[in-house]
Amino acid sequence: MTRIGVNGAAGRMGRTVIETAADREDLEVVVGFDVADVDAVRGVPVVDASDVGTGLAEYEPSVVVDFTLPESTVALADACAEAGVGMVVGTTGFDDEGFDRLESASEAVPVLKATNFSRGIQALLRTVREAVGALDGYDLELTETHHNDKVDAPSGTAKTILETVQEQRDVEPVYGREGHAPREDDEIGVFARRAGDIRGEHELVLAGNDEVVSLSHRAEDRAVFAAGALDAAAWLADRDPGWYEFGAVVDDT
Ligand code: NAD
Repeated sequence: MTRIGVNGAAGRMGRTVIETAADREDLEVVVGFDVADVDAVRGVPVVDASDVGTGLAEYEPSVVVDFTLPESTVALADACAEAGVGMVVGTTGFDDEGFDRLESASEAVPVLKATNFSRGIQALLRTVREAVGALDGYDLELTETHHNDKVDAPSGTAKTILETVQEQRDVEPVYGREGHAPREDDEIGVFARRAGDIRGEHELVLAGNDEVVSLSHRAEDRAVFAAGALDAAAWLADRDPGWYEFGAVVDDT
């Protein structure tokens, strides 16, 4: 039974991770951390995140699953590196410095970071690689839609799709268009929409002169991300220190 901690336990994803874990027999959420004034979520004690080191020592999770904000994740990374606790990072929106701090932690403990923990997105990325490689010269446009509380834009998943496209083709992102904005051949338009409680939609359009290919994914419930993050946590628990990708979990399980 893998002992799991959840950073951001009172948030949308943190709560969903705790709810999803309740149905699993291979792992148990033993502690949550949050800055919100919440004592427990579904019976899981929630410790003040400013005291994360003490909470790690007291509850001894093997891995902490993190869905918070970048500044919270890097603070957690320092504490996990010191305590010898692995990390599954779902938080998005890191700048280069934050990313470097996570990489530093991975020298001491296993760290697995993914901008999207759905298996469907992993399959989509493989399809994107193949389609962009096959359809040379087709115009590419990327759109993502998320709930109205999302703070970072474009989404981490859109950035991952963009990076996957750029592995195949040298295109420059253009974030939104306004005014006189004729399209260049080597650009990819990237658009972020925010509305309602939409869990996450992504669409890459590849358009030739007489045909359009549309590759899209829609998450219908946050449970899909929670399940993937928990699969990653169970997989990561016995690994050596290092940097790991969710694709390896999907390939293995
Ligand atoms: P949310 O705002 O509902 O929850 C965030 C939680 O973090 C809140 O409870 C907040 O109080 C807590 N928090 C803030 N500062 C903290 C700190 N210093 N220490 C501990 N907790 C702190 O947000 P959400 O919708 O759950 O999303 C969280 C993150 O997860 C976002 O970056 C989002 O983009 C990302 N996300 C990733 C995936 C994925 O599959 N990788 C899926 C969904 C969301």
